[in-house]
Amino acid sequence: MHDLLIKDALFVTCDQNHKIVYDGIMAVKNGRITALEQSESDAGRQLKAHQTLSVKGRLVMPGLINTHCHAGDSLFRGLVEGLTLESWLGQVWIAEKAILTKETTYLGSVLGLAENLVAGVTTVMDMFWYPNETVRAANDLGMRLSTGGIFFDLPGIGDRLHLNYIKEAETFMATHQESESIFPAILPHGSYTVSPKHLEDGKAISDRYGALFSTHAAETQAEQADILNRYGKSVIRHLQAHDLLGPRSILAHCVHVDTTEIKMMADSGTIVAHNPMSNLKLGSGIAPVSEMLEAGIKITLGTDGAISGNDLDMWLTMRLAASLPKGVMMRADVVTAKQVLHMATLNGAEALGQSKNLGSLEPSKAADFIVLDLNSIHAVPMFDAITHLVYSTSKSDVCDVFVDGKQVVHDGKAIKVNMDQTLENVRTLAPSIKASLE
Ligand SMILES: [Zn+2]
Repeated sequence: MHDLLIKDALFVTCDQNHKIVYDGIMAVKNGRITALEQSESDAGRQLKAHQTLSVKGRLVMPGLINTHCHAGDSLFRGLVEGLTLESWLGQVWIAEKAILTKETTYLGSVLGLAENLVAGVTTVMDMFWYPNETVRAANDLGMRLSTGGIFFDLPGIGDRLHLNYIKEAETFMATHQESESIFPAILPHGSYTVSPKHLEDGKAISDRYGALFSTHAAETQAEQADILNRYGKSVIRHLQAHDLLGPRSILAHCVHVDTTEIKMMADSGTIVAHNPMSNLKLGSGIAPVSEMLEAGIKITLGTDGAISGNDLDMWLTMRLAASLPKGVMMRADVVTAKQVLHMATLNGAEALGQSKNLGSLEPSKAADFIVLDLNSIHAVPMFDAITHLVYSTSKSDVCDVFVDGKQVVHDGKAIKVNMDQTLENVRTLAPSIKASLE
């Protein structure tokens, strides 16, 4: 006897072969997928469970994986506009310093993670000032999170020094190393805000625990000029010189990289988290996704924070990731919808070291799945489910979200947290957020 059956749906599994099951039935037990069959097959007809949900006219697929976010920055959405990264960051840090405490970080994290969750994202990699508060928010919402020790050499939030960051990172690693929902990471802000020695200190901790390492890299031309000026090398060469590349390293952005650097990342198995919306809006540029794919780099997708891209929409991110390279290269056959769908699912799981558990609908994997409404004007007719998901789907199409076999979003609403109260608390805080830059 299974716990749950989801039946009568179109299943897009996102497995290695992009398998699609029309009129399928999926069984779940103890938070795991136990079977995925055709409803009318012998195996399908024999499936029995305590609870059965018929989702006729809907599409079921794995939860999306957002590999670069700053959920807590949702408090500041729309506050700093019309500036490129470096001057923009100066303003962002002033506002963050004035507003962020552990409590407001929790509030912002609920806001940002809930926006991800109701849009079908079940796992987020997040870099923010008080990672324990982001963990609390993710646990309360019922989603998975990769986060952990931050490193930052300039005066940051809470006036912490490098030694404080090291201690916090060590404690975080030790606390969460066995967790199935929190994936510990070391997240130094970037090579222009963290010294080479301090980057190495962070990497040593991540190596000791076999944890992830993620940082902003090669986002703007100004960053490249700055690092070249300081260290005589471009950003990726600088990271390589300090042994910071590798299959547990996820580099966010990589907009300005040359062919040698692309090869360095490919040879070392380094992952790139591509954030097209944020890169466009901050005027940073367009990452050479097609070239990176051709070199064999594993690419994942991120929304970045809502203060740079102004929303946390992985569907828009997918559409941009698939379309921008075509426009730039004036070729419609580069970067396929299948490749992009994998960036948002299976590649994300692999990047987080969770491919045995997450990223596709396959027996034995965790039952992290989302249900999308297909009874909408933009979904009829639907000749190809994968191009529909990448080019036509909106976040508002997501009706229900399950993590570990448990429902966490119902009819587009996060059900484990009082979102009305969350929004009210954010509204109450808004005047002081606005005043922080006046
Ligand atoms: Zn970022």
